[in-house]
Amino acid sequence: MCWWIVIMAMVLEIASSVSYYGPAWSYDDETNWPGSKCREGGKRQSPIDIRTTDVIKDFNSHFIKYGALKFIGYQKVLLTGVNNGHTIQFSCEGDETIHPVLTGGPLKHQYRLEQMHFHWLSEHSINGMKYPMEIHFVHVRSDLTVMEALQKKDGLAIVAVFCQVQSDLDDFDTENTEELAQTIPRLLNTGERLSGVLLDMTKLLSPNRYNYFTYAGSLTSPECNEVVIWIIFESPIYMSDAQYRMFGKVGVGRHNFRSLQKVSNHLVFCPPASHINTPQIVIFFESVVKLVAEFFKNVTSYMAKGLKSR
Ligand SMILES: [Zn+2]
Repeated sequence: MCWWIVIMAMVLEIASSVSYYGPAWSYDDETNWPGSKCREGGKRQSPIDIRTTDVIKDFNSHFIKYGALKFIGYQKVLLTGVNNGHTIQFSCEGDETIHPVLTGGPLKHQYRLEQMHFHWLSEHSINGMKYPMEIHFVHVRSDLTVMEALQKKDGLAIVAVFCQVQSDLDDFDTENTEELAQTIPRLLNTGERLSGVLLDMTKLLSPNRYNYFTYAGSLTSPECNEVVIWIIFESPIYMSDAQYRMFGKVGVGRHNFRSLQKVSNHLVFCPPASHINTPQIVIFFESVVKLVAEFFKNVTSYMAKGLKSR
């Protein structure tokens, strides 16, 4: 056996993984993000603060034209988890034809699930209030490659699910997020990878899939392409304090959310039958700020400013 070939192969693998996963941009300095849309802003940048008083109930099917949302094949999904230096991301394994599929609501086309990842704190906010976490399920139009989708105004559909933290959840309540939480300790460092993860992704979707906000926006990371139909569920899922703390140990820097973008031409819609329950969100969030204070001090001071300026 030629050991030097093995050693060379290992060196090359390490080198390629460093260049692939090494963050070329940072959440600490958004002014230097690659992509002109990120720096100069466009017409439909994300994330935004959703003002529920401005949300349009889509009685006339201006935007929500295609009936109920349908999630097909999300029960058993084979994934590879990677810490890419910005977040933990789970990408679908196997051929594109076996990926879960999303249709309906505002989506004219069928979309295949590519990957899921996490932001803490949330990127979108509701009436100025953020959640501790937002999960993004990134879907690509089934008739397009990823590269093609990044050039089309409806190339991607991202489903966003807010995650709420409660310290007094019992085992039964945390069951939905436990499968996921068990994988996090193996993905704490940039470049770490875990294949063959089987998740029931329906457990990570909102319990109420009838109430959602939707608008035409952008990617929230470079190069901020304006190609995303956002579908943001109003009702959060729940995670325990211990599970959330695990994300605090993930080495991706202080935080990993893009700052809120100026609302310009954005029109946010919801299905006509939606029941938007604003006061509940505000009460929940204020209790969470206290909970996370000790381990996300920097972020919490940012949050506190937001709360005071209300
Ligand atoms: Zn995201």
